Amino acid sequence: HQENSRTPNKQTDKFIGGLLSPSFDEESCLSRYRSALFRKDSPHLPSSYLIERLRKYEELHKKCGPNTPLYHKSIIQLNLGQSIELMDCNYLVWTPFNGLGNRMLTIASAFLYAVLTNRVLLIHQTVDMVDLFCEPFPDSTWILPPDFPIKNLTKLYQGSETSYGNMLKNKRIKDDVSVPSNSLPAYVYLHLEHDYQHLDKFFFCEKDQVILQKINWLLLQSDIYFVPGLFLVPQFEDELRWMFPAKETVFHHLGRYLFHPTNTVWGMITRYHTAYLAGSDERIGIQVRVFSRNPISAENYLKQILMCSQQENLLPEINMNRTLNPTKSTMKSKAVLITSLYPEYSEKLKSMYYEHTTVTGETVSVNQPTHEVQQQTERQFHNQKALAEMYLLSYCDVLITTGWSTFGYIGQGLAGLKPWILLTPRDQKPADPPCTRAVSMEPCFQVPPTYDCRAKKNADLGALVRHVTHCEDVEQGIKLV
Ligand code: GDP
Repeated sequence: HQENSRTPNKQTDKFIGGLLSPSFDEESCLSRYRSALFRKDSPHLPSSYLIERLRKYEELHKKCGPNTPLYHKSIIQLNLGQSIELMDCNYLVWTPFNGLGNRMLTIASAFLYAVLTNRVLLIHQTVDMVDLFCEPFPDSTWILPPDFPIKNLTKLYQGSETSYGNMLKNKRIKDDVSVPSNSLPAYVYLHLEHDYQHLDKFFFCEKDQVILQKINWLLLQSDIYFVPGLFLVPQFEDELRWMFPAKETVFHHLGRYLFHPTNTVWGMITRYHTAYLAGSDERIGIQVRVFSRNPISAENYLKQILMCSQQENLLPEINMNRTLNPTKSTMKSKAVLITSLYPEYSEKLKSMYYEHTTVTGETVSVNQPTHEVQQQTERQFHNQKALAEMYLLSYCDVLITTGWSTFGYIGQGLAGLKPWILLTPRDQKPADPPCTRAVSMEPCFQVPPTYDCRAKKNADLGALVRHVTHCEDVEQGIKLV
């Protein structure tokens, strides 16, 4: 199963080389077939096997999705309180946790896990997530119906009695692959958050996957991109290799397959893109995220950004003597898109290019759609703006992102670009070196397990498995290359 090497013509291109099903009504979700046209053609086409698996998944989802007889049958089974062998449909219920970038990474991870294990992925949609994404699967819905019998899904946490780790600890689940389905609970909660414990991490072990396969319903709460962890599980190896002959394209393909901004968000994206970005010869996205655990002044962080840009030759240098050199003037224009919670970065950069000519003669416009000041994940409109900005970043030709930020991971993954990653500032000073080029466009799995299930001892999994390496921004993290 080789990567599909044919060049797409404009007609197939809107379906991204067959990644998208053509069975949707275009008007109800304009972004679905138009978003890819805002970018240069991706050199990474989906493999024919991935396309086959996606169509197969869509069939399963249609058969088992909400409001089908098989879904109702499964709800009856859930209410019985125990798992049943050979049910027609098994489910994975995703619940939201943390910011939108984290959520999108975990939806993509959950979806891949659902495909690998023949489960149907359902999304517990809280009010802050309404009107963000279109339905990704034709003739069905991925939204968990509100009358789902398990309540308080957002209250699940490390200590929940129903978590896989706690069930193992309390011997509610026997650590034995031959355990029959009917002795297993109807559902189990997978706690895959950054604070997950040793027994929760058994999720990435071969034997535990055999047990989990017998449980009809899985609930998942996570804030980490755990896809690289799925590559550590032996029974998924072959499928993953066939689906993704180029490992670093996993999120690139899954993100473009799953996430389609609704018409409300698409309106914001296209209005901004047309007004501020489309007219330039080149677009440079700079994603500025300042984490409170590593504070730095706007002045110093901008210094770091400019050091990075100078070192890597990303933004035109300015001419310090301010005089116009008529022979150097070209018609070339660059648009810088800054995304940040704070206005200072674009204000300062804008003044810099207003007050000085560039040594190349290029003109530089500096644009920033919003400056929300504070993260407000519980507000729907705030999330819509965040989503719009991730998309705008993904239409850039060059990206500078902030290390550790999942917001940036989404932009780079959708774009299919290896960004320059700003390294974490220390002691309020710019990091030195200021940035490093990403080795792949994949997001980082920031908190991977450190337990080698086969050898039954701790190990550096970043060094153990092919196609997995340590992240540039997160030392203990791992990513696909
Ligand atoms: P991370 O915390 O950087 O890994 O990214 P998340 O997306 O998970 O959480 C950060 C949240 O803060 C975003 O989802 C937004 O709600 C908000 N935020 C951070 N940076 C920006 C930005 O540049 N623009 C906008 N509109 N919101 C931002």
